[in-house]
Amino acid sequence: MSSHAGCSPTLPPTFPCRWDHCMRAFKRNADLRRHVVTVHVSLRDQRCTLCDYSSPRRDHLQDHLRRAHGVVVPVRAQTGRTPKQ
Ligand SMILES: [Zn+2]
Ligand SMILES: [Zn+2]
Repeated sequence: MSSHAGCSPTLPPTFPCRWDHCMRAFKRNADLRRHVVTVHVSLRDQRCTLCDYSSPRRDHLQDHLRRAHGVVVPVRAQTGRTPKQ
């Protein structure tokens, strides 16, 4: 067993996320794109299916649906949320 002197050559991430307040960086562009889609874009893709309204927040869209169209989105339809007791 031979001990390696010095540190291993690790490449720094070359694809930093450009979103505000996000410090993530990735070695591959594919990883960056997947991060942006899953973490950022998905949060901003809350669009009303009945008009052109869109909001970065899901609850804002639900409020819009309720006020503008009278549509109440069931809470249980959301992903894995448990109702408050
Ligand atoms: Zn990010
Ligand atoms: Zn709408």
